[in-house]
Amino acid sequence: MASKKVLIVYAHQSSGSFNSAAKDAAVEVLTAKGCTVEVSDLYAMKFKATATAEDITGKVKNADYFCYGEETKLAWEAGKLTADITEEQRKLTEADLVIFQFPMYWFTVPAIMKGWMDRVLTLGYAFTHEKRYSQGIFKDKKAMLSFTTGSQESMFSANGINGDMNVTLWPLQNGILQYCGFQVLAPQIFWAPSHVPSEARGTMLEDWRTRMQGLLGENPLAFTPLDCLNDMMSIKLLLRKILLIDTH
Ligand SMILES: Cc1cc2nc3c(=O)[nH]c(=O)nc-3n(C[C@H](O)[C@H](O)[C@H](O)COP(=O)(O)OP(=O)(O)OC[C@H]3O[C@@H](n4cnc5c(N)ncnc54)[C@H](O)[C@@H]3O)c2cc1C
Repeated sequence: MASKKVLIVYAHQSSGSFNSAAKDAAVEVLTAKGCTVEVSDLYAMKFKATATAEDITGKVKNADYFCYGEETKLAWEAGKLTADITEEQRKLTEADLVIFQFPMYWFTVPAIMKGWMDRVLTLGYAFTHEKRYSQGIFKDKKAMLSFTTGSQESMFSANGINGDMNVTLWPLQNGILQYCGFQVLAPQIFWAPSHVPSEARGTMLEDWRTRMQGLLGENPLAFTPLDCLNDMMSIKLLLRKILLIDTH
């Protein structure tokens, strides 16, 4: 794992939190393994969470009908995205692995982290119509979610009250990370650290430390390759043609 670069995008307000301990463990273990680790501590940075026209320096193309995707694409091409976005894109471009460390909020990431995703993963820089999913711009990078819950594991099982955790994570893991091409590593889930004894929390952190020893060598999760979308669209077109011929 020597000389690999790791970016930890971290969202917790408190340095005394379990999330902070998980983040610190990652910095310590990965640095000891020879990785260069950068941390984006979003609350400490007061990272702006909203995707707005203020993310572009200078004039936008169409202020009356502002379209964030198109405008940020033009601004990225012209080097006119704001400094906070440009700096995060610099860190991301250099990273081999990105770890998102957060407490689960309302079945997803906290708003400040969603803001990082909305504002940093801009059209043109992070994805295009042609370059997405298995053909995605970040296909040589790995990414993973590492998070804590308030719920017990059983609540996030297929028959549990919250439903299957894999389904909960689909928008993040497939809709964002895999969409941008990342090889997505299995999530690190710290189940309900507030509700277990102190020794159990220590074990969770030890397990995380052990996992990190081989993290960059892990096989990613499997997702549907982009070719399947093209194949499905070709089949649909073919079927439509056949049906049209049939009805004429
Ligand atoms: C807006 C909001 C929405 C939420 N939505 C959901 C949801 O949809 N689903 C869900 O499951 N939960 C939800 N939660 C709960 C939330 O996910 C948990 O409260 C959070 O994940 C707990 O993580 P933490 O880091 O804040 O824990 P903390 O409360 O900071 O830590 C837990 C315990 O670990 C201890 N600790 C800290 N450092 C260490 C260390 N080094 N070693 C051992 N112990 C340590 C702390 O002292 C504390 O006792 C939500 C919470 C909020 C505020």
